[in-house]
Amino acid sequence: MGVCPLARIPLLRDNFTGPLHPWAQPEVLTCTCWGAPIIWDGTFDPDMTQQEAVQNLTIGLTVFAVRRYLVKYLACFLETAEQHFMVGQCVVYYVFTEGPAAVPRVRLGPDRRLRVARVVRERRWQDVSMVRMRALHAALGGWLGRCEARFVLCVDVDQHFSEAFGSEALAESVAQLLAWHYRWRRRLLPFERDARSAAALGPGEGDFYYHAAVFGGSMAALRQLTAYCARGLRRDRTRGLEARWHDESHLSKSFWLHKPAKLLSPEFCWSHDVGRRAEILRPQLLWAPKEYALLRG
Ligand code: UDP
Ligand code: MN
Repeated sequence: MGVCPLARIPLLRDNFTGPLHPWAQPEVLTCTCWGAPIIWDGTFDPDMTQQEAVQNLTIGLTVFAVRRYLVKYLACFLETAEQHFMVGQCVVYYVFTEGPAAVPRVRLGPDRRLRVARVVRERRWQDVSMVRMRALHAALGGWLGRCEARFVLCVDVDQHFSEAFGSEALAESVAQLLAWHYRWRRRLLPFERDARSAAALGPGEGDFYYHAAVFGGSMAALRQLTAYCARGLRRDRTRGLEARWHDESHLSKSFWLHKPAKLLSPEFCWSHDVGRRAEILRPQLLWAPKEYALLRG
């Protein structure tokens, strides 16, 4: 298994045909040691990406909105997705909720649809988060797998789109670098270290710390990913274990074993709480402030 050098390499602009951005960013890592591109603003030309996207490509966006998250976040999430997410493409939102009647009626553009799937309401917020892997896997093996989407992105609801989030984010399998951790040394990353857990990564293992708030890929790749994570979560539960960062811990383990084809820079899922960073130019998706006391009670 390859070890990722954390050394920065110059921006790859081989495929960049447009003019360089006047505010070209500082050097960032743009390619993993296994050859997957890391997408930063300025490393792709949005117009070219749009043209190259296969015509009539349908993109799915899954989002869970359960308990208080449904009323608090879903409307803003969908409204901003209408403004910025895959504009000009066919998009299907797959909303997983226990309260279909409370799903806001957001006005959708042409070629954009919304489907609602019912999920059971778990009591603990950790379970709502973890159960997503199982629910997604079941859906991908059934009704969602038979649906129209060629690529699917699976995202958290407690965030909103702020800039164009387009087909540059699509690939066979896609992982998101977590905003707080992308500059950390590998050995300090908060992987699950308890060797009894299915999510455990030993010393020297783990490539990057990936964020469970954005991951995606083809139906086949997502079926494999969600199966792996759901299996690990189930195994831990039967042993009375819960990984440090729940489903996210299993996600980083899965992507360590099955390398993602594309990584999204933290710009794709940013939090202003991290502070100013010279390499973060135009965040596409922004975390909502964490109001855990209100939402998780
Ligand atoms: N979630 C939900 N209801 C809950 C807890 C979680 O709908 O009570 C869903 C929602 O999509 C949320 C995701 O699970 O964005 C992950 O939970 P959260 O955002 O609280 O985790 P964090 O991003 O803080 O790790
Ligand atoms: Mn979240």
